[in-house]
Amino acid sequence: MPLKKDASGRLHIETPFLAESLMDKELLAGTHGSYIRPILPDLRVVKIGGQSIIDRGVKAVLPILDEIVACRPEMPILITTGGGTRSRHVYAIAIDLGMPAGVLASLGSSISEQNALMISLLLASHGGIKIGHDDVPKLPAHLAVGGIPVTHGMAPYGLFEEPPASGRIPPHRTDVGTLLLAEVLGTPRCILIKDEDGLYPADPKKEPGTGVIPEIEVNDLIDQDFNDLPVERSMLHVLSRARSVNEVLVVNGLKPGNVTRALHGEHVGTRIYRTRD
Ligand code: ADP
Ligand code: MG
Repeated sequence: MPLKKDASGRLHIETPFLAESLMDKELLAGTHGSYIRPILPDLRVVKIGGQSIIDRGVKAVLPILDEIVACRPEMPILITTGGGTRSRHVYAIAIDLGMPAGVLASLGSSISEQNALMISLLLASHGGIKIGHDDVPKLPAHLAVGGIPVTHGMAPYGLFEEPPASGRIPPHRTDVGTLLLAEVLGTPRCILIKDEDGLYPADPKKEPGTGVIPEIEVNDLIDQDFNDLPVERSMLHVLSRARSVNEVLVVNGLKPGNVTRALHGEHVGTRIYRTRD
């Protein structure tokens, strides 16, 4: 960065941002740059679904953790957790009590954190360690000693959550939080473990008989504007603008072997990818 002295002899950093509102479109486009350093490019960022997996209890959760533990010697893994049914309960109560989206987001975050605590303790004898979002810079230390860090997936908007386009459910929940973590850590793939074989044209629980979509470009998926999705809509918009994450894999964790294959980079379930910019 070039340094420059002004008339009084005071030192400044010479940058086009000086005295700018940081809103000028051309100036903003100029900050795109060609290179973002991948911080932990080998890290596997894996979300264990709340409603789809954790709420199903020991039968669904333990086989997935066994696969993660078996893969861990070969690769660094960060687990995030969804909220699930208890988030739905608290959202319903909070809406009934007249709470705004920001309060719902705070409450949902606590539930996702409860799940992170339980998953980390289930993994305790294999290096499972519950971390908060402030501990993310310590990830390399946990990974270096073979640990399996677990954090809550809820994006940390909390009380600052923006009002959704429709209704009051916080638009930034645990899918988008997981993707944002993967993005800042520079990992190319984000894995979401759920209970269906991937993305369908409609919720397979409500409209069975439609086929799974093996892969789809994220902007095409946004344009299709499906009525229901297995991932948060806000996650699609973040993926379309991502610089590090190229794809989100929606994987059925109830089928043995799927998590292992996904961790090894294989294509299982639905691959939602973005075309490089
Ligand atoms: P999580 O437990 O990760 O929060 P969700 O329960 O929020 O996952 O989302 C996964 C669920 O989304 C699936 O169990 C499925 O029933 C539902 N779903 C809704 N629309 C679709 C769709 N178009 N394709 C696949 N699953 C869908
Ligand atoms: Mg969900």
